[in-house]
Amino acid sequence: MNARPQALDDVAAILRNARHVVVFTGAGVSAESGIPTFRDALTGLWERFDVAQLASAEGFAADPDLVWGWYEWRRMSVMRAQPNAAHRAIAALASKVPKLTLVTQNVDDLHERAGSEGVLHLHGSLFAPRCFDCCRPAPLASNLPDEPEGGRQVPPPRCEHCGGPLRPGVVWFGEMLPEDVLAHAFDAARTCDVLLCVGTSSVVFPAAQIPVDAHRAGAKVIQINPNATDLDAIADFNVRAPAAIALPAIVETAFR
Ligand SMILES: [Zn+2]
Repeated sequence: MNARPQALDDVAAILRNARHVVVFTGAGVSAESGIPTFRDALTGLWERFDVAQLASAEGFAADPDLVWGWYEWRRMSVMRAQPNAAHRAIAALASKVPKLTLVTQNVDDLHERAGSEGVLHLHGSLFAPRCFDCCRPAPLASNLPDEPEGGRQVPPPRCEHCGGPLRPGVVWFGEMLPEDVLAHAFDAARTCDVLLCVGTSSVVFPAAQIPVDAHRAGAKVIQINPNATDLDAIADFNVRAPAAIALPAIVETAFR
């Protein structure tokens, strides 16, 4: 990895002495498990559409089969993927520090499958559908969707209460982030003493405000990202490496 050994030791020491760690993850962590990023998922049938048609309430109202088909296709690619060493290192870290809050912008369940609990999903989840009409949560078939490689249209299941179409429980364009989840995440950011920012370019507000608030409140901000980001300026440490390589090394150095 590119981190200098001294920096690795310094980061490890900060984690070893931490009281409350917030881990803030983004698409880079899922990408290392082979899950395409949002825009990279626009292949096959989906290539002809733009994200506003596939990820907005207006797009869903206009063509629910198209939108539900896209999300079933994405759910399938997530279910076929496995958590990577970064997901596992975060789950392990939770058992080593007095308190850990995991905030993710990812809509997959790889953190949970790696063993993390109480994950705050800022942008919702592919695994928590609800009714488009009455908003009641709905169960999701636990089977692995068997979608063709190029995708297809799939009629959404119907709500058992009102018969309305089910929609994916993710935050679409033009929608607010879930208020309670966001409040919990900001509270953690403002009271933690260490914030680990992993695989996110952090450009979209309000999520992008989380590391900024932690920094302003006096927390040490450690960024793990192979690329430069807008957070470089406020991070106390910038570890330029893939998360699946850097995180296990840091956690092992801190707690061996
Ligand atoms: Zn309903």
